[in-house]
Amino acid sequence: MPYFDHNATTPLSPAAREIWLRASEEHWHNPSSPYRDAAKARIRLEGAHERVAEYLGSTKERIVFTSGATESAHAVLQHWGRTFAPGAKIAVNPTEHPCVLAAANLAFGERIVWLPVDRDGVVTVQAVREVVSGGQISGVIVMAANNETGALQPWAEIARICRAARIQYFCDAAQWLGKLPASGFSDVDWLIASGHKFGAPKGVGFIKLAEQSESFSTQPGGGQESGHRGGTENLASSWALATALGEAEQKKVFLEGERLRWREEFERSLIASLPGARIVAKDAERLWNTVSAILPTGENHRWVTRLDKRGFQVSTGSACASGKEGPSHVLAAMGVSAEESKRVIRVSAGWETTLEDWRGLAAALAEVAKEMRGAAESVTAVP
Ligand code: PLP
Repeated sequence: MPYFDHNATTPLSPAAREIWLRASEEHWHNPSSPYRDAAKARIRLEGAHERVAEYLGSTKERIVFTSGATESAHAVLQHWGRTFAPGAKIAVNPTEHPCVLAAANLAFGERIVWLPVDRDGVVTVQAVREVVSGGQISGVIVMAANNETGALQPWAEIARICRAARIQYFCDAAQWLGKLPASGFSDVDWLIASGHKFGAPKGVGFIKLAEQSESFSTQPGGGQESGHRGGTENLASSWALATALGEAEQKKVFLEGERLRWREEFERSLIASLPGARIVAKDAERLWNTVSAILPTGENHRWVTRLDKRGFQVSTGSACASGKEGPSHVLAAMGVSAEESKRVIRVSAGWETTLEDWRGLAAALAEVAKEMRGAAESVTAVP
């Protein structure tokens, strides 16, 4: 069944699965224990830190494995809350993932300055420059790629601005890593990511710590993760994450351009067969895998159900894993009305998605449109 919901989660990659099994069977010892088998586990764990650090241009001591991006976001924002000067303010992009918004609200509440976004939901570099030059801000939060629309943010430029102004920059790269190059993030102070977005198991992610963040701790305990996160380490998942990231780093080198063309062909078909449909964040640079579209008629749940029956798994516009969806705050920030929001579907491909899958989905959308038009006409024809 063609799966088009990779921004929600991805299947376990074969290489990550193999490593996970090997670690679970051969290296199940506690890495902190004092004998040789434990030392072997410790070496593997160190290797996982090293590999992730290498992809990100960092050092192994600054990579902290966590349970995922949500834990990571809360840990960083709590740390900011504890270590910034009393009354410090932060500037936040309003189209962040709900976990980052919740963490920022908990730690800073009224002391958040919202960054303006353009109609594609992208923060302008100028807006960041202005807010930073005001001298009132201690931290900036702008994600790398949006989970709903795929829009890319100018994070590299923002990192440079923040560095020059000696202001901390936090970047949620959960949707970027595994799809686009990991290199270039060395200028970002705080970076978070989640393994299950790129073929690793669920329940593992990491934080790249800023320089000089020795006091950072997600949870005190037995001194694991260089003292930054207490609790027996999850070697199998951490090693699988490093493996999956390595695999994705290879794929993007060869396949990214082609995958972007497939997405563009799909968008052209969608617009041609569904008059009145609109691609969200159309003019922004976007991830090669993501299309968010406002459909001309019918609530998105009806489209999702009908596509599912035809064998295509897509999502409604907003990301919320729990299924408790309200109107999307991302679309609202971009000026999309609540009514239009109800007609948004999100399609997100993976590396294993084929051109035939994209074409099949375009054909299925055209069929569903015809079916829904037919249903609407037969209702109006009833005397
Ligand atoms: N940030 C972004 C951009 C996401 O897309 C997600 C997941 O949907 C998260 C954070 C949360 O990730 P996790 O499931 O690892 O907590």
